Amino acid sequence: MNELRMYINGEWVASESGEYFEAQNPATLEVIARLPQGTRADADRAVLAAHAAKPEMARLSVWDRARMSLRIADAMEARVEELARTLSLDQGKPYHSEAIGEVRAAITGFREAAEHVKFLETACFPLQDPHKRGWSIRQPRGVYAVITPWNFPINIPVEYLAPGLVMGNTIVWVPAPTTSVCAIKLLECIEQAGVPKGALNLVTGPGPVVGNEIVKHPLTAAVGFTGSPQTGRHIAREAAGKPLLLELGGNGPTIVLDDADLERARKCIAAGCFFNAGQVCSATERIITTPKIHDALVEALVEEAKNWRLGDPLQPETTLGPLNNDAVAEKTDRHIWDALAHGGVVVCGGSRAPEFGSRLFYQPTVIDRVTPDMHFHKEETFGPVAPIMLAGSDDEILEWANSSGYGLVSSVWTRDTKRAFKFAEALRTGIVNVNDASIYWELHVPFGGMSGTQSGIGRLGGRHTLEAMSDLKTILLDLS
Ligand code: NDP
Repeated sequence: MNELRMYINGEWVASESGEYFEAQNPATLEVIARLPQGTRADADRAVLAAHAAKPEMARLSVWDRARMSLRIADAMEARVEELARTLSLDQGKPYHSEAIGEVRAAITGFREAAEHVKFLETACFPLQDPHKRGWSIRQPRGVYAVITPWNFPINIPVEYLAPGLVMGNTIVWVPAPTTSVCAIKLLECIEQAGVPKGALNLVTGPGPVVGNEIVKHPLTAAVGFTGSPQTGRHIAREAAGKPLLLELGGNGPTIVLDDADLERARKCIAAGCFFNAGQVCSATERIITTPKIHDALVEALVEEAKNWRLGDPLQPETTLGPLNNDAVAEKTDRHIWDALAHGGVVVCGGSRAPEFGSRLFYQPTVIDRVTPDMHFHKEETFGPVAPIMLAGSDDEILEWANSSGYGLVSSVWTRDTKRAFKFAEALRTGIVNVNDASIYWELHVPFGGMSGTQSGIGRLGGRHTLEAMSDLKTILLDLS
């Protein structure tokens, strides 16, 4: 049995309790490794190590830290296949069509952080008093608590680790338990590249224990978290007073208007629904359309669903792996059953597909006649489902799109530029994709939820994360 260690103060260590938990391959439910069951004492040790490493990180110049980030990218580049294979085994995503791409995106994340940080200029500002000079500088916040989920267990952590480290913060990272093998492999690359002792610490174990400890620890200065709104709200309470970067998911409406280019839309919408088996915060969670195009759209999506191939994530033909864990599979079941009980119609799929391996495989599903009273509308599903809603007017489309309680991403399909603008400006989401899938994103583009929704606080992406993960300090100099 592969018995792994967590990483505290520059050393690979077991939990102080000596206990372990098991990592399973979601495609087969085979145990692939044993991981340390971290405790509050372990988390505390990690925060103390990160606190002690602050002066060393602060001593490094921006250029030193950028070089460090590039070395990490190189170390990952040398192990792309190994990282992607671990990602497939631990998370369940297809190796060829998705895992390799996620690892490459993460490598780009380290490279781009190194580029952006060098050009993060700040202001020198005119003042009323002629004897004064004033300017601002960016400084690290200190010890960051970073808690990451299981849907993109290599790339989402890098969204925090790369900008966090190049900005000179020190970090304690708690990854989701169901994908902690990925976290350990990623940390091996980072260690190989050489970071100051204690600058980055990895604590494995239950979020409510080790995650909670690092969030509320008095020596933790700030928190970065991606996950559910419920946990996000809990973390915000526990971290009261600390700067927060919270990415809490979405219920992305995709609006397909009468004049949409259906040939292009069908492939993009299917990708929005089925990529990573729907376990994407920017997934297409609802498709809102009009009577004129509805029937053609349903038919097109059913045909597209047939092109997604369930199977062993390591096989080249597989494009749809298992869901990552029982909780998300059960939630997908619940949302489908709820829709069926309220008048929804399953047009294809609609249930699990254990014949492909484990109970976590789910058929790509198209479900029609979804209405705003259903879970599909009100909650994030996170499964491979295309729920279709039929609206009567543009006003109704907008009302439905904006009333789910979430506000992360949306997508609009139309050939009419005026209508595209009208919708893009009225949609209450942090990103609107016009004529592309809801999941389209580039790493440097600001990404996050709208205020007043459950989708989070702050913006990830390029220099926006660098700004979020640093303090802006003003210096006023008297020359009189
Ligand atoms: P959670 O938000 O519960 O978990 C995300 C991470 O937070 C996990 O590592 C979890 O650890 C940890 N965590 C849980 N409680 C605490 C706590 N009190 N303090 C600190 N960390 C904590 O999401 P789930 O994994 O339960 O998934 C539920 C749903 O959330 C999904 O179906 C999906 O809808 C949504 N989600 C959204 C994501 C996104 O990308 N925005 C990512 C993941 C989920 P542990 O597993 O040990 O509880």
